[in-house]
Amino acid sequence: MAKPSEVAKPARKVDNATKTVAAILQEFGRQAFNIADRSEESLQEMCNRWVAHLLLGTASPSREELRENWFDWPGVRDFVANERGREKIYVVKNIDEYQDLALSLLRDFSESVQIEQETDGQLQERLDHLTSHAKTKSGDELRKEVISTIAQLNEVLRAKKNRQKEQLHSLSSQVEILKGELSSARESAVRDSLTKLYNRRGLDAHIEKCIALFHETKTRSILLLGDIDHFKALNDTQGHTFGDRMLQEVAQLLEKLFDGDAEFVARYGGEEFAIIIQGSMDEARQRSGVLLEAMRALRVDHNGKEHTVTMSIGVAALKSAEQGTNWIARADKALYASKNLGRNRMTIEGS
Ligand code: GH3
Ligand code: MG
Ligand code: MG
Repeated sequence: MAKPSEVAKPARKVDNATKTVAAILQEFGRQAFNIADRSEESLQEMCNRWVAHLLLGTASPSREELRENWFDWPGVRDFVANERGREKIYVVKNIDEYQDLALSLLRDFSESVQIEQETDGQLQERLDHLTSHAKTKSGDELRKEVISTIAQLNEVLRAKKNRQKEQLHSLSSQVEILKGELSSARESAVRDSLTKLYNRRGLDAHIEKCIALFHETKTRSILLLGDIDHFKALNDTQGHTFGDRMLQEVAQLLEKLFDGDAEFVARYGGEEFAIIIQGSMDEARQRSGVLLEAMRALRVDHNGKEHTVTMSIGVAALKSAEQGTNWIARADKALYASKNLGRNRMTIEGS
């Protein structure tokens, strides 16, 4: 994946104003967050492409057009306005929904308090009435009055109980709705919106679990870091939309190949994927071989042609007392060895 630090090296003559716009776009990407139909990764990716267009003169992302010494300023403006507009709609909608829910909870509470006060007032009136007649009425009259008051009391208490049951039911269903929304918000924070795989945040959380598992049971997890070969060329020749579809196809393939309970698949970055399995290094070697073969066999149709991609893989087993970042860095080193050796292959770290 093109990283902001890599694309920031000016390759054509750019003035300070252009550099400043590029820096703002880079910051916009850094501060990206997931919204309903766009992931933070894809916004970062788009910002990086705009920065590359401005500083390096690569094709404009909005027109995928390459012209020498051309700055697509209308494209930059539309991109920022469009993304900012989508974020605003998303944020305002979410705030409104939570406000509505909170308001309806408050309204229910205040209505129920009011009803209880009214019934308590009626009961009090009835009891006051009975007390004031207790001294003056004859035994028979008093007995009748007591019986009728008790009947009324029973009726009022039964109604009160039913009301409370209904309130409890309505409150608990509203709490369930809130709980559901919260857990889906949590889930979408760790998912990549394009491929639906776990994202970098989800991977970090899983790595922490692997480290804890290693401490507790000495179960050793193995990380397979895969990067699609020459993906930029596929994007440049077939378009970004087809590139997205290819990423989705690769994600589906990974999910099919690694679906065991103890297996985990994430989109680590643009065209990079992370897989974590448990087992021996021999098993990891064998599974990587199956993955490489499945990648070579993958065919994706576009404009009446079948397209193929290959993958380079780096493999590293978790070491004792190791941090997650170190583990990833070792797998990444092995991945780069695979790239340097000609791609479409796997390398085991330290071998
Ligand atoms: P290598 O074999 O060395 O990995 O070459 P590469 O072209 O795959 O690697 P490079 O890092 O130069 O380019 C990665 C490309 O992946 C560039 C970027 O446009 C593309 N990419 C990253 N994220 C996305 C995405 O979400 N959608 C699409 N369509 N392309 C993406
Ligand atoms: Mg890459
Ligand atoms: Mg690549």
